[in-house]
Amino acid sequence: MKVHILLGPPACGKGTQAKRLVEKRSLIHLSTGDILRDAVSRGTEVGLRAKALMASGKLVDDSTVNGVVFARLQDETGDVLFDGYPRTLFQAESLQTFLSSQGIALGFVMDIEIQEQELADRIVNRRVCSNNSCGAIYNLKSKAPKLEGICDLCGSTLKHRADDTLEALQIRMEEFNRTFLPLQAFYKGMPNYRSVDGAQHPDTVHALLNQLFEEPA
Ligand code: AMP
Repeated sequence: MKVHILLGPPACGKGTQAKRLVEKRSLIHLSTGDILRDAVSRGTEVGLRAKALMASGKLVDDSTVNGVVFARLQDETGDVLFDGYPRTLFQAESLQTFLSSQGIALGFVMDIEIQEQELADRIVNRRVCSNNSCGAIYNLKSKAPKLEGICDLCGSTLKHRADDTLEALQIRMEEFNRTFLPLQAFYKGMPNYRSVDGAQHPDTVHALLNQLFEEPA
């Protein structure tokens, strides 16, 4: 068993790329954002703790997120792709300790790099499927649904995420800029770190990421 990691700022395309890689490479998709949103919608203890923080664009505390992730990893046996985790140096270090203790290997750390100006446009135009088990992601400009407001894949209604506002993006970017450099530095020295230009077309980004898995182990 291996865990792969996707790094990058909010709305850089992590979710979209994760879904495509998971399908192509038969990986298990672990998105901490999706897991936390599900906890919020079910009103669990974790959800109650996370709700206001998430809506305002702040990070959920490390111990809550690590707890959720490690519980999920204990249940998995296949290769995993993390999307949105780790987000802080503390999470990365805790994950590393957990992986070593369980004998799980770290796979690729894929860093999707993109300029901040691109992100606001993506956030305003992003729509997501309201059906959590589908979770398809659209962009009203570059990948509009065939029928307005309806998911092409499952027919559920589309919604604008509560934290996809310019105000919340500003806070999410402040959180990202505060936490990302130490996190990136932690992984940059590792042999499996790869950086990809996220401003390219999603198909190109996907092809580049997918190609990594062809590299000899
Ligand atoms: P995402 O869907 O990855 O953009 O995450 C949405 C929100 O969930 C973030 O803005 C945070 O509030 C919370 N969140 C997701 N992953 C993490 C994480 N690894 N650490 C802390 N908070 C997280």
